[in-house]
Amino acid sequence: AALERLPVTALKGVGPRNAEKLAAVGVHTVQDVLFHLPFRYQDRTRVAPMGQLRPGDESVVEGEVQGAEVRFGRRRSLLVELFDGTGLILLRFFHFSAAQQAGLARGVRLRCFGEVRAGPSSLEMIHPEYQVVTQADAGRAEASLTPVYPTTEGLHQLTWRGITGRALERLAQGGDGGLREWLPPGLLRRHGLPELADAVRYLHRPPPEAPVEQLVAGRHPAQRRLVFEELLAHQLSLGQLRDRHRRLPAPAMAGDGSLTGRLRAALPFSLTGAQERVIEEIQSDLVGAHPMMRLIQGDVGSGKTVVAAIAALQAVESGYQVALMAPTELLAEQHLRNLRSWLEPLGCEVAWLTGRHKGRRREQRLLELETGRVPVVVGTHALFSGDVAFQRLGLVIIDEQHRFGVHQRMALRRKAEGLGLHPHQLIMTATPIPRTLAMTAYADLDLSTIDELPPGRTAVETLVISDARRDEVIERVAAAAAGGRQVYWVCTLIEESEALQCQAAEETFSLLEEALPGLRVGLLHGRMKSDDKEAVMTGFKEGALDLLVATTVIEVGVDVPNASLMVIENPERLGLAQLHQLRGRVGRGAVASHCVLMYHPPLSGQARERLGVLRDSTDGFLIAQKDLELRGAGEVLGTRQTGEMQFRIADVVRDQGLLPAVQQAARELSASHPEVVAPLVRRWIGQRADYINA
Ligand code: ADP
Ligand code: MG
Repeated sequence: AALERLPVTALKGVGPRNAEKLAAVGVHTVQDVLFHLPFRYQDRTRVAPMGQLRPGDESVVEGEVQGAEVRFGRRRSLLVELFDGTGLILLRFFHFSAAQQAGLARGVRLRCFGEVRAGPSSLEMIHPEYQVVTQADAGRAEASLTPVYPTTEGLHQLTWRGITGRALERLAQGGDGGLREWLPPGLLRRHGLPELADAVRYLHRPPPEAPVEQLVAGRHPAQRRLVFEELLAHQLSLGQLRDRHRRLPAPAMAGDGSLTGRLRAALPFSLTGAQERVIEEIQSDLVGAHPMMRLIQGDVGSGKTVVAAIAALQAVESGYQVALMAPTELLAEQHLRNLRSWLEPLGCEVAWLTGRHKGRRREQRLLELETGRVPVVVGTHALFSGDVAFQRLGLVIIDEQHRFGVHQRMALRRKAEGLGLHPHQLIMTATPIPRTLAMTAYADLDLSTIDELPPGRTAVETLVISDARRDEVIERVAAAAAGGRQVYWVCTLIEESEALQCQAAEETFSLLEEALPGLRVGLLHGRMKSDDKEAVMTGFKEGALDLLVATTVIEVGVDVPNASLMVIENPERLGLAQLHQLRGRVGRGAVASHCVLMYHPPLSGQARERLGVLRDSTDGFLIAQKDLELRGAGEVLGTRQTGEMQFRIADVVRDQGLLPAVQQAARELSASHPEVVAPLVRRWIGQRADYINA
């Protein structure tokens, strides 16, 4: 069988117990073994003269046992003195058998590998790996560098070396038992990449002269060969997804401008050039007969919502229904308010549906959607639960907040398709996506970027201050309020614990009320009743409150141009993109605004660097890129748990330079070698590709 289907148990010496442990690190097949690469190497190819050893070296030494004795100190230990003519080294064993002790007699020749340490009287190795050598093979060391594998409990490096050794033997048999080369020779030559089987062999057993630093950095051509193919397979699978979807029929929604024109006329501002451009991109998708799949990104405050509203009206004008879905109820409510204020004056009703709606009221709403009486509905993912049906769903708008991955997008699409529809899809992200991520995680979508902020915004000045200076910060709050400005005070805790977060906000609220007796202070958190939240938000918006103490729920909340100061407690706990999004709540008017990041010392080096990025920049695109570099793709996309975007070998940050070439190769291969697409996708994505075929 091909290696990608051959179970590890087909290798000699791998029984069910080892197979189970291997499965825990995601290794099921012989191919998985071959793609399980070492993360560092030991040089056992040279025997080091003992006279030249230094503490900290990992070395092979070889010499004759001078003597061995058991020492009864604090811990019983066996000490073996080894001499090679240039120097002496002491081997120290805490666990040893009588047989072992007998084997280490004076005159026996040993080769050892271990870490050199400074002992009380001489250099030592503690529990080195060792073997007895005969005069005949004395001085002959390993032929290749020794791989060290990422592993799990109970799987020793020796076991790994054995298993990979046998997998490499299989590979050497070639033919069907090998790794088929799917990339055309011209492509490999152009990028200076070796063949797959050669690359794999090299990485598991590099020759003694291999550039170890380059290997450890993951930048050796053999590694880039594997990375290239993995990224390519990923691109090809998303490309398939995209092409398949693009061929489906969708409603052509030409619109007549009756509603969009009236909304434009009613807006108190004119759209920016970037908004106009993106609206045009969307409109030309909507009139097409195939489903749009477009992602809108833009910095916080760039005005994505109104663009979505105009798209929605074009659908309504054309006689279709629109569903807008947000990841949280709070965010959905915010969209509901916005859309109602824009759409209802035009006679376009906007309904509201969440999981909380039950019973008669829910049935009533469902009926309104099913009969097409209500043209627009806003809600959470409850919008796509089994009992919801639309009469003519033409457009789905998803506010993504980095929380829906390809899998969820697919699930949604299927939901709509279950209704016999292939609606257009518009996805909005809360913050900009680094280009490298857009090219990988979102390669199934077209991208529109609002790269311009509405005029009249002032840049927010950001300060990084220790919470030891809380009193000064409170004085700042008082001063802002005295000047007629409003202030946000954001209490953060790790998101998992909403209850604790709300409790922290309640405590801070009491403290601040006490410390600032002249101020009108409000409290807002996710556990409050909808009506109460609404009342507090309205109060703050209308200027009836000076200070709003809140959890991170306000990330997406109110829009108050008079708010000029935001204090964020424990900002070191949040991602940069989220902090940037929060900070976007101030600086929305013409007033000079400030954001105080009040951290709890001591700050780790990385946290200091991250807060520094935020202090020095207000460019969401740059901040997103830094966030990616500092925290990795899984964290930035919020998909670390789902396993999406977890490559076996590639690293989106380290390997970003390869992406343009990979994209190009994906286009070329699909056109000129379509037969290799399926096998490449199967090799690298395997069962994970099922969602594509479902
Ligand atoms: P985001 O892109 O962060 O979602 P919003 O859509 O919430 O931004 O818009 C931020 C604010 O800017 C809102 O109050 C919105 O009404 C306003 N706005 C949107 N477009 C413009 C514009 N062209 N000129 C002035 N204000 C605008
Ligand atoms: Mg928004």
